[in-house]
Amino acid sequence: METLELLSGHSMPVVGLGTWPMKEDQCKQAVTSALALDYTHFDTAYMYKNQREIGEALREAGANREELFITSKIWHDHLKYEDALSQADEILQELNMDYVDLLLIHWPNDDVPMEDTFKALKEIHNAGKARSIGVSNFSVAQMKKAREVSGVPICANQIKYHPGHEQRDILTYCQEHNIIVTAYSPLAKQEIFGNPALTTVAQAHGKTPAQIALRWLLQKNIIVIPKASSREHLQENLDVFNWKLSTEDMDRIDQMADEKS
Ligand code: NAP
Repeated sequence: METLELLSGHSMPVVGLGTWPMKEDQCKQAVTSALALDYTHFDTAYMYKNQREIGEALREAGANREELFITSKIWHDHLKYEDALSQADEILQELNMDYVDLLLIHWPNDDVPMEDTFKALKEIHNAGKARSIGVSNFSVAQMKKAREVSGVPICANQIKYHPGHEQRDILTYCQEHNIIVTAYSPLAKQEIFGNPALTTVAQAHGKTPAQIALRWLLQKNIIVIPKASSREHLQENLDVFNWKLSTEDMDRIDQMADEKS
């Protein structure tokens, strides 16, 4: 699997499995199947209530922890200093792991001074409980503030990004500062698959619209975390390497009108 390097020096696989809203057996099953197909990157959050199943599935499959990349997120009602520390510990307890690879602030919360949250994140990082830290759903203004107050590099911003839903200002800001952007809902929850631009490019490459959407994101140096529960989808979403979209294909998809997701 190709990786991108985070500001912390660690490597992040460019395709991961999104696990929301899977729970219980369905989640466990998807993680087990994904691991067997060579996924090593799993995206979860305290709020998803599936961390126990993810930890169990990975352990039962005998996965080597050092070869995994686990992202989790602190929910926005736990961003005060003490709350963030305690939720980070709960995340590790639920996963039954010593550390996560990337710990994000799930959503910003204007009612809590960012200084408080980043003080906690620095401690969590320094204690070895999170190898890298980052944010999710942060605007350019929020990124600027976060970078001012954070005592450790902010390595990633996870945002909604898919064909027809671009956030070019935040993408440009992050990439100018070597902050990795991860796209959530990279398949727009299946809502864009009928789009003529996507289907035309897909037919020309002998690929599916889902693969074209993922490839388009990867060619912008955006990490993708499609959620998939079926083995067929899991497999399909890994077949996005060793072929490329042309500049014309990229432009055509860039021009897709904003659509619902
Ligand atoms: P998504 O990944 O865009 O779409 C998931 C849907 O696409 C599922 O219905 C899935 O079906 C289907 N699918 C997967 N692969 C497919 C393929 N190859 N062909 C056709 N359909 C396919 O949407 P998402 O779940 O909103 O986002 C992905 C992940 O991002 C989440 O799981 C979560 O980890 C993360 N996320 C983060 C935030 C945040 O605030 N940070 C917000 C939302 C999501 P099956 O399940 O049937 O395979």
